[in-house]
Amino acid sequence: MTHKDVIVVGGGIAGLTAALSLAQKGKDVLLIEKNDRCGGLMNTFERDGFRFEGGARALVNAGLVKPLITEFGLDIAVLPNPITLGIEDAMLVINGEQSLDEYARLLKELYPGSEDEVERVISAIRSVIADMRVLYGVDNPLFAKKKRNPIALAPSLLAWTLKFLRTMYRISRMDTPFEHALDALSSNQSLKDIIGQHFFRGTPVFFALSYFALYNDYIYPKGGVGAFIDTLVGAIVLKGGEVLCRREVVRVDATDKTVTDATGSTYRYDSLVWAGDLKALYTTADASRLPEKARAEFTRRKQAVLARKGAESVVSVFAAVDLPPDTFGRVASGHVFYTPDRRGLGRIHTAELTALLERWDTVSKDEFYDWLTRFCRYNTFEVSIPALRDPDAAPPGKTGIIISALFAYEVTERIRAAGWYEEFKKRVETEFIDVISDSLYPGLRDKIMFSFSASPRSIFERVGSSEGSIVGWSFENEIPAVTNMFRMADSVKTPLPDAYAAGKWVYSPAGGPTAIMTGRIAAKRCLRR
Ligand SMILES: Cc1cc2nc3c(=O)[nH]c(=O)nc-3n(C[C@H](O)[C@H](O)[C@H](O)COP(=O)(O)OP(=O)(O)OC[C@H]3O[C@@H](n4cnc5c(N)ncnc54)[C@H](O)[C@@H]3O)c2cc1C
Repeated sequence: MTHKDVIVVGGGIAGLTAALSLAQKGKDVLLIEKNDRCGGLMNTFERDGFRFEGGARALVNAGLVKPLITEFGLDIAVLPNPITLGIEDAMLVINGEQSLDEYARLLKELYPGSEDEVERVISAIRSVIADMRVLYGVDNPLFAKKKRNPIALAPSLLAWTLKFLRTMYRISRMDTPFEHALDALSSNQSLKDIIGQHFFRGTPVFFALSYFALYNDYIYPKGGVGAFIDTLVGAIVLKGGEVLCRREVVRVDATDKTVTDATGSTYRYDSLVWAGDLKALYTTADASRLPEKARAEFTRRKQAVLARKGAESVVSVFAAVDLPPDTFGRVASGHVFYTPDRRGLGRIHTAELTALLERWDTVSKDEFYDWLTRFCRYNTFEVSIPALRDPDAAPPGKTGIIISALFAYEVTERIRAAGWYEEFKKRVETEFIDVISDSLYPGLRDKIMFSFSASPRSIFERVGSSEGSIVGWSFENEIPAVTNMFRMADSVKTPLPDAYAAGKWVYSPAGGPTAIMTGRIAAKRCLRR
């Protein structure tokens, strides 16, 4: 039986970060991934010469990705990834914090009579950005360009440390749902929708408002997000680690400290990092021979994890277009958050959707499609054009485009059970392309060479992510993971001996950056052992 210092299950960004950190330190590490390629929710694929991101459209640096590239000497070029915020015909390319003033002006023009409310929202965003500067150490005197002697530095460092602790405390208290926070700032529903309807329901207010700063922080690896992943895999192997794809781990024996894959091969570990779906850990792990106290804790955690659900998922439409990238570049940058109608979704994606699901058995297809048309018309879309960041992403003179919006997993499941899932996927394609063709890129629909879509169900099937979630737990119920920044180091603990967990399920709010952070923390725990 193969015996490894550390086995990492799951080759998403969390698992890869953990495996690379361990291999770098000379650990004998094996990463096991169920798909034919690593990356999970960060992947790039090619169709007839067009390159598309199947998951995250770009990377959020967050003070992590670029340092990772430097620390591990990764051979990957990073390209700029400017973000455009678009509402109807108005386009704003985000360029530093000063864009916030332009954003305020834009909102005031769109919502006359609500100028004071816009000011209130913008000043809330500004104060969150100030907190982030403290959080990421931008203001830290230690990082000042001009070096000063340590004794002269001491008073300002002490003042900064106190400011840092105060900020951390303030942030940890800004965990109310952003919808409630916006209600306190404005009564204009359309304004609130435009600011927040592309966030997951119940997103903590700090996380939602901090997004304006993150818009400046996106980067695009040359060759696509998947090229970054491939570079990580290459680095793991180069440092002596092993990466085994097409092997799904189906059993963890917590007492013998072994994992078994679907082909029946068993591997023994000293330490385990589980970076796959968390529900899967608790359903595949056998804790029956652990001491009673550990067994009871495992059962308690298992019940909490299995009782909760993931956040909303996403529907993506991929299209190859017979137009050169310039045509799109004249409208906006290659990564756009676009809302075709300033009125916003209102209750369409909340109360109306809930009502639809409650009486699903009586809802006709026509009624559902009518809802879907309105859902698309007033929604906010993330539009990504890889060739506008990296010209090699499409054949000459042609362009690939990805149009996506948040979508409830449960709806796709009900449709699947009713037997019209494929028809629904085609209909979504048409709706998304129509709405973008009638607004952002006029005439798009006539130039489509081919298109296809991916639903929340596709995400569940490929990555095994519960409820097709892309960022871990739903914010609408109690979260069975660490949610306090002060306690992030505890997020990787599991009730199983020498087993840690990493990735989007262990810390909330999650995404690429926290997946990387928890991967590193889990690696550190293994090293300490
Ligand atoms: C369309 C889209 C847009 C996004 N945009 C952003 C964004 O702008 N900013 C941001 O921060 N985040 C974004 N994200 C989310 C981000 O991509 C994910 O949260 C992050 O990549 C999760 O990484 P992970 O390693 O935790 O999990 P995953 O990427 O889910 O990786 C888990 C891996 O484990 C493997 N696996 C699962 N079970 C097993 C098993 N039993 N055996 C072996 N292998 C297994 C899976 O195949 C997968 O490769 C986006 C995601 C999507 C889909």
